[in-house]
Amino acid sequence: MNAVIDVKNFLPSQYKQTNALPINHNYLNQQFADYETIFQKIKQVVLKGDFTLGSSVDELEENFARITQTKYAIGVGSGTDAIFLSLKALGIKEGDEVITTPFTFFATIGAIVTAGAKPVFADVGEDYNIDPNQIEAKITNKTKAILPVHWSGKPCHMEDIVAIANRHQINVVEDACHAIKATYRGKPAGSFGQTGCFSFHPLKNLNVWGDGGIIVTNSDDLANKLKLMRNHGLKNRDECVMFSYNSRLDTLQAVVAQHLLEKINFITDSRINHANFYDQHLADVKGVTIALRENFIKQVYHLYCIQCDDRDNLQAFLIKNGIDAKVHYPIPMHLQPAASYLGYKPGDFPVCEKMANHTLSLPVHEFLSQKDLNLVVSKIKEFYGSQKSI
Ligand SMILES: *Cc1c(COP(=O)(O)O)cnc(C)c1O
Repeated sequence: MNAVIDVKNFLPSQYKQTNALPINHNYLNQQFADYETIFQKIKQVVLKGDFTLGSSVDELEENFARITQTKYAIGVGSGTDAIFLSLKALGIKEGDEVITTPFTFFATIGAIVTAGAKPVFADVGEDYNIDPNQIEAKITNKTKAILPVHWSGKPCHMEDIVAIANRHQINVVEDACHAIKATYRGKPAGSFGQTGCFSFHPLKNLNVWGDGGIIVTNSDDLANKLKLMRNHGLKNRDECVMFSYNSRLDTLQAVVAQHLLEKINFITDSRINHANFYDQHLADVKGVTIALRENFIKQVYHLYCIQCDDRDNLQAFLIKNGIDAKVHYPIPMHLQPAASYLGYKPGDFPVCEKMANHTLSLPVHEFLSQKDLNLVVSKIKEFYGSQKSI
C-alpha cells in the first residue's frame, strides 16, 4: 500500500515563511487587529445558541444580495461548494461538459469534476481571463454551462459570454471568488450568470476565520433549490424534499464576514489605489508588461499581476529584498497531473501558458504603506536596470 500523503500542514508553513518578509502578501494580523470587537459579536451568538443558519447568516445574505445587486444570496461552506452546488442545482451531471479557463485556481476545476462533469478548456486573453472568441468552438451538444473566472478581480467580458450562452441556451456560472465589488459596465461581478460564486477563504479580499462562501442569483427557482441543497434538502425539521448535502455557511464565520463587509469599500479602494500606483510607475519599465485596463471595468485586484521577463530571477531578487512576490500560478490546469485523463498537452493553450510562465503577483493589500509601494517599484527598476548594464 502507498504511504498516506501528509498534506495537512503545508498551509501553516506557507504562512510562516511569508510572515518573515516585511512586505507581505499576507496581512491577516492587521486585518483582524480588532478581533476583540468580533469576539464580542461572537459572544452574542454563543449566548443565544444561534449556531446553525443563525441570524448572522440571514443578515450577511441580505447585505450581500444588496451589494451584488441580486435578488438572493445563499451562504454555503466554501467558494468551492458555491460552484459545486450551483452546477448541481442547474442539473449538471455525469457526461456533461462545462467550458472554463485553464488559468484558475484548482477549486474551479475540482467543483466541475466533483459535480460529475468534464472540464473543457478555452484559452485566455492577455488579461488572464477566458477569451470569449475561443468559447464557441468548444461548444458541443454535451455543453451545459460556461464557467468564467474573474481572475485577480477583473470581470471577464460578460456581455459577450452571456450572449454566447443565450445563443446556445446554456447556463453561465461565474467564479467571482476574486471579484467582490468588481463591476463590468457598472454591473457587479456575480450578477450576470445564473449564479455567481464567492469565497471567504482567509486569503480572499473579504475573508473569515476558516472557510465560507456565498452564491448569488436572481432566480427564485435556483435560490429555493440552493437553500434546500445546502441543508440536507430539508423543507422543515421533519420533511426532506430532496436528499442532499450539508454545506451551510457557519454562523460564526458569517459574523466575521459581516464585520469585514462593513469595511469592504476601504479594502477595495485601497487595493485599487495601490494598483494604480504600480501601473503608473511600472508602465515604462522595460521587462514589465501591464495588462490592458479597460475604463468600463472596475477591477478590484485580489491579485496585482504583472507579466515580466526573467520572472524567476526577479521573484528571487524581490524576496531577497523582503518583498513577498508570488506566482499565481506556474502550472495551468490543463497541464496538472490531475488533468492527464483529459489528454491535453503543452502548447494547447499558448496564451495561458505564456501568461503562466511570466506572471508575478506583487503585494497589493490594503495595509501597504506608501513606503512599501515605493520600495517595490524601486526594487523592480533596480532589477531591470542592473540587467541592462551587465
Ligand atoms: C479561492 C478560490 C476558489 C475556492 O474558494 P474556497 O473558498 O477556498 O473553496 C474558487 N475559485 C477561485 C478562482 C479561487 O481563487
